[in-house]
Amino acid sequence: MKYCTRCLMPETRPRITFNKDGVCNACCWAEEKKAGVDWKTRWKYLEELCDKYRNRSNSKFDCILPVSGGKDSSYVAYMMKEKMGMRTLGVTVRPPLEFEIGKKNLENFIKCGYDHIHVTPNPEVGRVIDREYFIKRGQGYFQWLIALQTVIFKIAVLLDIPFVMFGEEGETEYGGTSKLKQEKGACYDQEYSMDIYLSGFNPQEMIGKFSEKELYWWLFPSREELNKLKPAVAHWSYFENWDPYEHYLLAKEKYGLQEETERCIGTYGNFAQTDTSLYVLQTYLMYLKYGFGRCSQDVGIDIRRGSITRKQAVELVKRYDGEYPEPYIEEYLKYFRMTKEEFDATLDGIVNKKIFRKENGRWVPVFTPH
Ligand SMILES: [Zn+2]
Repeated sequence: MKYCTRCLMPETRPRITFNKDGVCNACCWAEEKKAGVDWKTRWKYLEELCDKYRNRSNSKFDCILPVSGGKDSSYVAYMMKEKMGMRTLGVTVRPPLEFEIGKKNLENFIKCGYDHIHVTPNPEVGRVIDREYFIKRGQGYFQWLIALQTVIFKIAVLLDIPFVMFGEEGETEYGGTSKLKQEKGACYDQEYSMDIYLSGFNPQEMIGKFSEKELYWWLFPSREELNKLKPAVAHWSYFENWDPYEHYLLAKEKYGLQEETERCIGTYGNFAQTDTSLYVLQTYLMYLKYGFGRCSQDVGIDIRRGSITRKQAVELVKRYDGEYPEPYIEEYLKYFRMTKEEFDATLDGIVNKKIFRKENGRWVPVFTPH
């Protein structure tokens, strides 16, 4: 496999591109951010947007913030409420198989003074969707990914709040499509959401298997409703250099963010994601499909912020990437209502057999990160 010469992202990452020196677009973007991005202009644009939506007459809230209680969304919430002076409404879509620590962090965050809505799409419907797309697409929590988009658009329409601020634009930051990094490209729409965040999936495809009523939170508002509202849906990472470590420090100081005391499975850190144990499966599946996992993602962030060398990163990835989510398997089987055999057969169906072979019942890489 070909790897980025700066970080350890391989060519198998969907939508990744490399320049002539073999540097991936995420690393190029990191360089650009240091040298060429006109943050001043972008910040002015943010102020324009906030001015436009702040205190509209009859408005209930100025802005919707998708929040998890984690470091990044807490940071964005702080900035939008305290620095930009927006009346914010936090919205959380409850994930399946929540971690206790994630719940506690969200609770602590809300207590610090946020209006908040917790949406729980029918967990039984969610389970069936997740089971199906786990088998079909090798997705760990597809219904949650869908709802993270559709619920936000839906609440925007329901409460007439035409401004949404997400956190990071993962495509630009980690080496996917670069569409949203251009000038004034801050905002995206429903089509982009389906194309990129749902990899071309239109939730309408699920109608038939479920009724429209059952799928209420998993469907986008109608085109008419969206045309009427014309929501500006943006990512904070467009307006300011995205630094997860800074966010962590702020969330700890302002909202008492707590982290796992143990290292997370599949990587070396302990504070990356605290929402659901299915994230561990999701990144393991990504590893089986593309040959890079959670650790490869994390070293990329740390290399780009200059806190580790590429050589150290190679060692970390060799050691932790693609770690089997052993402690959670029982929980997963219960959630998907599967036997271990069915679970294993599902992994066999999605693994990229050009880069993995089976050894003692587990898939092992035939490539070496370098
Ligand atoms: Zn790179």
